[in-house]
Amino acid sequence: MSNYKEFHRRSIDQRDEFWAEQAQLVDWHKPAEQICDFSKPPFVKWFKGGETNLCYNAVDRHAAKRPDDRALVYISTETNEEKVYSFAELQREVERMAAIYQDLGVKRGDRVLIYMPMIAEAAFAMLACARIGAIHSVVFGGFAAGSLATRIDDAKPVLMVSSDAGMRNGKPVPYKHLVDEACKLAEFPPAKVLIVDRGLDKGFPKVESRDVDYAELRAKHIDAKVPVTWLESSEPSYILYTSGTTGKPKGVQRDTGGYTVALAASMKHIFTGGSGETMFSTSDIGWVVGHSYIIYGPLIAGMATIMYEGTPLRPDAGIWWQIVEKYKVSVMFSAPTAVRVLKKQDPAFLKKYDLSSLKHLFLAGEPLDETSHKWIMSELGIPVIDNYWQTETGWPMLAIVRGVEDSKIKLGSPAFPVYGYDLRIFREDGSECGPNEKGIVGIVPPLPPGCLSTVWGQDERFVSTYFSLFTDPVVYSSSDWGIKDENGYHTILGRMDDVINVAGHRLGTREIEEAVQTHPAIAEVAVVGVHDELKGQMPMAFAVVKDASTVDTAEKRAALEKEVMKKVDESLGAIARPARVHFINGLPKTRSGKMLRRSIQALAEGRDAGDLTTIDDPTTLDQIKAALAG
Ligand code: AMP
Repeated sequence: MSNYKEFHRRSIDQRDEFWAEQAQLVDWHKPAEQICDFSKPPFVKWFKGGETNLCYNAVDRHAAKRPDDRALVYISTETNEEKVYSFAELQREVERMAAIYQDLGVKRGDRVLIYMPMIAEAAFAMLACARIGAIHSVVFGGFAAGSLATRIDDAKPVLMVSSDAGMRNGKPVPYKHLVDEACKLAEFPPAKVLIVDRGLDKGFPKVESRDVDYAELRAKHIDAKVPVTWLESSEPSYILYTSGTTGKPKGVQRDTGGYTVALAASMKHIFTGGSGETMFSTSDIGWVVGHSYIIYGPLIAGMATIMYEGTPLRPDAGIWWQIVEKYKVSVMFSAPTAVRVLKKQDPAFLKKYDLSSLKHLFLAGEPLDETSHKWIMSELGIPVIDNYWQTETGWPMLAIVRGVEDSKIKLGSPAFPVYGYDLRIFREDGSECGPNEKGIVGIVPPLPPGCLSTVWGQDERFVSTYFSLFTDPVVYSSSDWGIKDENGYHTILGRMDDVINVAGHRLGTREIEEAVQTHPAIAEVAVVGVHDELKGQMPMAFAVVKDASTVDTAEKRAALEKEVMKKVDESLGAIARPARVHFINGLPKTRSGKMLRRSIQALAEGRDAGDLTTIDDPTTLDQIKAALAG
């Protein structure tokens, strides 16, 4: 048996022993009494009775030993700022932020909603929550007021932390305006909003009784010392919302001890980074990669982490590589979309800088096509590791675990189940697929440390969403189709549900449909994901209007299409905006009234509409074809 196969087998067969060993990578205030409590399946409690703190493991323990070493490098090519924080400096900033929180009445278990651009203060804000046992809910800055309001009402934060504005492509992007709008829309707005004023949006509105200024409070607490709050391993560290099949996003709830151990172990075995090295993840703090591999993972491992505000193409397509050279980045993490974007640029940019520090590049979030995989690997001359996971799992489920064995890379394949995951491919009847047989990616519980412990405030939804497809035996369903070849290499073939993946960002078509439907002219709509060469998928809408006279000329159609797109921008954000809104007289449905989304999607991608035996009105398909052609 290969080293890795044996390592993986042990993680499943000798689960408690394996994870007890991994737990040594973390500092505990009190050791666990039980490694894995799976007495109430599918719920699991890892490192029960143990007490630890994420912030302590990410910051304090390194600051104590290597205070002057680099911890956080903030680079903005938008505002031309660059600032390096040592571990000691990072700890001081986090303590100041924690003191501000306490001043504003935030207590252990309270929620703090963070809606911020990629600035160093966003990292302080997250780590300060972890320090005092408050639960952060970071919302991606690209989400609009409607999405923000939904997340406010679900998490009921006592405090929101935001900024006047972010910058993208040289233009300010308002944040505070959206916070105000969201607070108006929400039923449970926070009592206080803490604003980091970057001076990018001079006249941003202020709400006297609610808004507080970060710079003022930071000055007040400049010498603050805030001890860490030791948390029981299962206490929540954060909530992160993700899209599903319903219109309402789910709050993925993460624990404290299991997550800290999972990240520490992944940094050792998968990403192979340690003290004195630098990691550069090009994601955003609003996504799971940002939580695990911009903020917590690298810092727990004692690495410096790069927080980059900017695009991969400004000032030119060499910017990422310039950063790699300057900070001697050894581990880099990005998404396939970014590689496809870079592939269109002058290859000279990749040769211009000294990239000898780089050990490997990790790509995740969406399928990595073989051509892009091959291209980036040969351009960089280093292993490029495709890895598959979800917001729910918090860390990779499929990857090559290079720290244990440097297995051969298969292009377009995220390779093998990661240790801790008893991942298998299942038929819809719950039996296991054979080699090269397409099935559903499932995990035999317990889910390993680091994975979601429940859906925030909705235990029932945790069970019904993830554990109801396979009940005998009970298996976690990823909702992804996958296949395993005879050598054990996996390939992910796409989602089974109505979730689409736009440039590595997960969007629920139901959410977009609801946003489209807020336009008074729209009676009914179907949104499907359509293949896009750069972004993987793009949403496309097919809408039925209430009054045909609103779309009876090309001009009116164009105007309404724009208005509908604006509605989506306002309620969800531009990332969810449909590439096109087509107007038709009726949507294809089965005789029982179920929307034939797969057929709509197939037509939109120029494929055959598939099985139509149950269709109620076949002429609806002709209308779709005509709309696409015209
Ligand atoms: P998210 O929760 O936003 O990270 O999205 C997770 C989904 O992205 C998964 O369920 C997959 O559909 C897709 N995904 C993530 N990583 C990969 C990968 N390496 N290959 C193919 N699909 C991926």
